[in-house]
Amino acid sequence: MRPARALIDLTALRHNYRLARELGGRKALAVVKADAYGHGAVRCARALESDADGFAVACIEEALELREAGIRAPILLLEGFFEADELALIDAHDLWCVVQAEWQIDAIERARPAKPFTLWLKLDSGMHRLGLAAADYRASLQRLQAMPHVRDVVAMTHFARADELDSARTDEQRALFHQVCDELHLATSLSNSPALLGWPTAQGEWARPGLMLYGATPFAGPHPVADRLQPVMTVTSKVIGVRELAAGEPIGYGARFITRRPSRIGVVAMGYADGYPQFAPNGTPVSIDGRPGELVGRVSMDMLTVDLTDHPAAGLGSEVELWGRQVSVSELALHSDNSAYQLLCGLKRVPRSYVGE
Ligand SMILES: *Cc1c(COP(=O)(O)O)cnc(C)c1O
Repeated sequence: MRPARALIDLTALRHNYRLARELGGRKALAVVKADAYGHGAVRCARALESDADGFAVACIEEALELREAGIRAPILLLEGFFEADELALIDAHDLWCVVQAEWQIDAIERARPAKPFTLWLKLDSGMHRLGLAAADYRASLQRLQAMPHVRDVVAMTHFARADELDSARTDEQRALFHQVCDELHLATSLSNSPALLGWPTAQGEWARPGLMLYGATPFAGPHPVADRLQPVMTVTSKVIGVRELAAGEPIGYGARFITRRPSRIGVVAMGYADGYPQFAPNGTPVSIDGRPGELVGRVSMDMLTVDLTDHPAAGLGSEVELWGRQVSVSELALHSDNSAYQLLCGLKRVPRSYVGE
């Protein structure tokens, strides 16, 4: 069997969830959209179910997958519904729903659910993606509150630049949110991972941690709180071929690396079809049998090459970590001009196994 593997540490996931809730101070919805950022939504939700106040996903398909797996906790649809007929399923499966636009309010008005809805009314405080404009927010809230089939409304917003710790934008967004929502007597929800980790004064009743649950930092450098996160996914594979080469020999497609000395090159069963970044440069960190090593040559679809010259004990069958406990996914993201979000979500073809159930 091909030796590429992703090991998912559910104990680390629970540790990170507890840290998120401690930072937020109150309740936290574990964001498990996009198959829990590539970690497996059902397995992660089950591992968190006894701790988590609820879950958040991007769409009803993702919510139904969790319900079908027996997850009973609250589940929030972060973009609400895309078509009005989803409201019947939202009712039947007891889902919470973000309301981000006027047409959704019209559809909710026409619905006749068996149980009243719990809605999260989204304010566009400056991200300018989804949400109601500040000028329209109160009127929309009043419309919803006048409907007998609306039970609770939570006021929410989303930060655009909370990962930039020197940007004034988060405080501006927060100020607008408070200006619009403070007198409304609603529960509030503001924080994604970067806000939880980096903006301790920007919290509401409900935090919405995603990336940090999986142990990756959203920041470009070291950070005292983010450094307490534990990586959840470790991606490894093995050396399946070794080449002894003289100095001056090219390696792989495009001859992007040319040996500078007599070299031993290891071929590893991992490529961009697995989600490893195709354009990771020469020198990108890997870990070879637990010791720091380097990628050399261009990444192929199914294979990549590493320099074994300074790893005399390594050879056929040696284990190579691509990201995880030794090479953090955020570090790999920095090297490959990518993001930890995309690397984690982009894992494909690699079988996952789980520890710490
Ligand atoms: C994805 C998402 C989150 C989680 O963001 P992270 O940066 O991964 O913590 C929170 N809120 C909303 C609305 C989202 O779409």
